[in-house]
Amino acid sequence: MSYQIIDGKAISKQIKEECRVKAEQYRERGILITLAVVQVGQDPASSVYVRNKKRACEECGIKSLSYELPEETTEEELLSLIGKLNADSAVNGILVQLPLPGQIDENRVIQAIDARKDVDGFHPMNAGALCTGQRGFVSCTPAGIIELLKRSNIEIAGKECVVIGRSNIVGKPAALLLLAENGTVTVCHSRTKNLKEVVSRADIVVAAVGKPKFITADHIKEGAAVIDVGIHRNENGKLCGDVDFDSVAPKCSAITPVPGGVGPMTIAMLMSNCIASVDLSESL
Ligand code: NAD
Repeated sequence: MSYQIIDGKAISKQIKEECRVKAEQYRERGILITLAVVQVGQDPASSVYVRNKKRACEECGIKSLSYELPEETTEEELLSLIGKLNADSAVNGILVQLPLPGQIDENRVIQAIDARKDVDGFHPMNAGALCTGQRGFVSCTPAGIIELLKRSNIEIAGKECVVIGRSNIVGKPAALLLLAENGTVTVCHSRTKNLKEVVSRADIVVAAVGKPKFITADHIKEGAAVIDVGIHRNENGKLCGDVDFDSVAPKCSAITPVPGGVGPMTIAMLMSNCIASVDLSESL
């Protein structure tokens, strides 16, 4: 079967360009959209993510403010900074790069961010809004999955959708978004029995398992669309996903590569959330 490679790099570029145009329109109205990026410690992977997020802000004409705090920062100190950013009317979005050092409770930090500035969409109020079909910030990776499907003209309504993984940042919100798009959604996890049987029913598969090349051709129905959220480095230092691309792709109608699929969408949707923050802050 010939398959379409879903080009996340091209789609993310398109979204960032749309954001740039909207940010410019806001600037003309005197609004300079501003994202505060907070990093605690110097975890190398986090530093790369933070750098990429700031670069995307620059590309889109969004102002980014940088807060680099030392590894030994206390929870109180971080909460105090968040309090200040919450109160600062010039700040539209607040992003605290996760993971945080062990002495800081991530949940307390997420809950301290004003839900109207929570561009990561992790605050329980935004998670609840997604669950109940109300307006709110949607976390960036799952929002990116839906954009990839829509902009590749893959119909979700009425389709069997199987999400593998139930994390708060990917699996659960991805399932809720597919449901909101009228998919028939099944969520699989580490306790699911007969995983192959369940996944092979799917027209749309979202793999967010966190295990390299875990999904193989015998999980996949002929003609399915496969979205691979996983990011891993194999023994040769090459990137791969949760899906065994080489065996799965020939069975699919469409599939995301790793790299160049879901990865670039996460930052594009962060930019999109920064733009949406102006409107959302008035309705939340
Ligand atoms: P996680 O570890 O929090 O969740 C993994 C999920 O997989 C769990 O819910 C678990 O129940 C399920 N699972 C584990 N073993 C299973 C099995 N044998 N059968 C069925 N389900 C099983 O991971 P996460 O944060 O959701 O991330 C998933 C993957 O996506 C990781 O590879 C991560 O690096 C990647 N990720 C990518 C992006 C991106 O921007 N592209 C963003 C976030 C996460």
